[in-house]
Amino acid sequence: MGKVLVIGAGGVGTVVVHKMAGLPEVFTEILLASRTKSKCDAIAAQIGGNRVQTAQIDADNVPELVSLIESFKPDLVVNVALPYQDLNIMDACLETGVSYLDTANYEPRDEAKFEYKWQWAYRDKFKEAGITAILGCGFDPGVTSVFTAYAAKHHFDEIHYLDIVDCNAGDHGKAFATNFNPEINIREVTQKGKYWENGKWIYTEPHEIHKPLNYPEIGPKESYLIYHEELESLVKNFPTLKRARFWMTFGQEYLTHLRVIQNIGMAGIEPIMYNGVEIVPIQFLKAVLPDPGDLGENYKGWTSIGCRIRGIKDGKEKTYYVYNNCSHEVAYKETGTQAVSYTTGVPCMIGAMMYLKGIWKNPGVFNVEEFNPDPFMEQLNLHGLPWVELHDVDLEL
Ligand code: NDP
Repeated sequence: MGKVLVIGAGGVGTVVVHKMAGLPEVFTEILLASRTKSKCDAIAAQIGGNRVQTAQIDADNVPELVSLIESFKPDLVVNVALPYQDLNIMDACLETGVSYLDTANYEPRDEAKFEYKWQWAYRDKFKEAGITAILGCGFDPGVTSVFTAYAAKHHFDEIHYLDIVDCNAGDHGKAFATNFNPEINIREVTQKGKYWENGKWIYTEPHEIHKPLNYPEIGPKESYLIYHEELESLVKNFPTLKRARFWMTFGQEYLTHLRVIQNIGMAGIEPIMYNGVEIVPIQFLKAVLPDPGDLGENYKGWTSIGCRIRGIKDGKEKTYYVYNNCSHEVAYKETGTQAVSYTTGVPCMIGAMMYLKGIWKNPGVFNVEEFNPDPFMEQLNLHGLPWVELHDVDLEL
């Protein structure tokens, strides 16, 4: 059906190409390109069968990207490198007339801000070029956005209150580690909290608001209100929302380490001089922390991510909870990665499939909730992320 260029050979990239390789009728040819080619080669060898070609690429370099795209001629470029590369890859897609998909919004390196404005600014250019950009197609953003669109389409006349709840109840046996790229992860969880209420953003101190929430098959876990990027597009695309919040679970041990890391300046993103060499503290920290890709082997337990929604159906108030639980051990057995990479990589593959099948294919730049959620929801059940719906339950929020 189509050729795909995947950029980034980390935990998420590993899952994306594993899943694509198993669907030759959809993904006829796969090229995995990343900064370190040996990582691409190791993933291709693990998959076997000559299903995955590999290449070296510096995705900060637009001319290099353009020549790789021109030589391979993919139908779609899937970006699972880092958010810093989003705009460069979008520029290369524009220059070559090829569609684009990613899982995380653009971030400038020198400013930990999570905003779609830079990528939304490409709307007219993508429309004029007749190509599609699908933004935020991981789990959150991604599946949580599709869950919201599915709820609005099938179960509500108006959705009023949305709480996205993200629990990782897994244990990797390390004193401190992040589940995906440490630099991106620590920037995300140490920023101020922010949520939408009655038409405006309310700001909180980091981790100021928290409460225990019950997660299916897991039980109560302390959950912290943090800002997460899908809130920005969801409140625009579902204007009936009176309030939209995002909650994530953290263990005490994790928070204590995080506080120390911040207090001693190791989460800093400004360069400092050390022995005559310029280093960025958080990048140095990444070099000494466990590689998220290596956590899988001993990871036990579940993730549980979903949307708790309150709104109106046929004039009556209704509550709805849709979620997926994913086992770290099962994810590892299948792809050699833990559940956080798995829950991001599977929806990314499905989004690419939606594009190649022509189901999610409009000229312009779109967040995933703007497309038909039904075919995507069907594929989640078929590819390892089954979801569960609960109607008229206590949402605790
Ligand atoms: P990793 O750090 O494990 O992998 C990133 C990969 O990108 C590495 O292979 C890295 O190369 C490569 N890379 C970095 N810079 C460049 C560059 N300039 N040129 C080419 N390749 C480059 O990250 P993850 O796999 O954990 O995460 C990937 C993406 O997924 C991130 O953007 C993250 O924010 C997003 N994500 C989204 C989630 C969601 O639910 N929506 C959840 C989790 C993650 P090298 O190996 O040389 O370092």
